[in-house]
Amino acid sequence: MSIKDNLHSILTKLPPHVKLVAVSKTKTVAEILEVYNEGIRDFGENKVQELMQKVGELPQEIRWHLIGHLQTNKVKYVAPFVNCIHSVDSLKLLKEINKEALKNNRTVNCLLQVHIAREETKFGFSWPELVECIENEEFKNLKNISVIGVMGMATYTSDETLVRTEFSNLKEIFEKLRQNYFSENTGFKEISMGMSSDFELAIDCGSTIVRVGSSIFGERPKKG
Ligand SMILES: *Cc1c(COP(=O)(O)O)cnc(C)c1O
Repeated sequence: MSIKDNLHSILTKLPPHVKLVAVSKTKTVAEILEVYNEGIRDFGENKVQELMQKVGELPQEIRWHLIGHLQTNKVKYVAPFVNCIHSVDSLKLLKEINKEALKNNRTVNCLLQVHIAREETKFGFSWPELVECIENEEFKNLKNISVIGVMGMATYTSDETLVRTEFSNLKEIFEKLRQNYFSENTGFKEISMGMSSDFELAIDCGSTIVRVGSSIFGERPKKG
């Protein structure tokens, strides 16, 4: 199937309250435009350098989502334009995003990445780390970030029961955060979970943003 057909087949599976972020890492400008021309405006990249190369060559209407691990020294590059950073995993990073957003006289949307997978390698806050971050006085003073929800990645496995447990866990964490810390903040409403292999399961478990790459654009070259 073509990119266009793939896209429309995914879109038919998304309920109206779920937003698609088309994950375009490793894909060309021409491929991204095929999706853009079907009306998609939200695109996700996981590497700052690759994102910076693409931004100038693509329409300004695109809302760019940074979904990969972000080092504090690279925040300055994306702060002028990035719509949402899904991979925020420390107060230090939030402070840096706030500082650079302020310099650019704008607000950057952030999702708190939560560690829900079995794998050690996946980044993200634990529950105690979330509490420590949010209860910190410095957190409350960050005016140029908008914390709009949480993000998580499930274990890479065919064990559907495990994936469901992890997504449900993220949904519970989101609800606890909302009740305990964000009850006055109607902007805190997003749960970014679900990729090509598991987005339907994620939607079942309460996802509001799915990040889908290979099911739209085709497989990526395997890492060596
Ligand atoms: C690559 C990536 C995706 C998309 O993965 P697919 O399996 O190609 O849909 C989603 N989220 C993150 C954080 C990624 O790095």
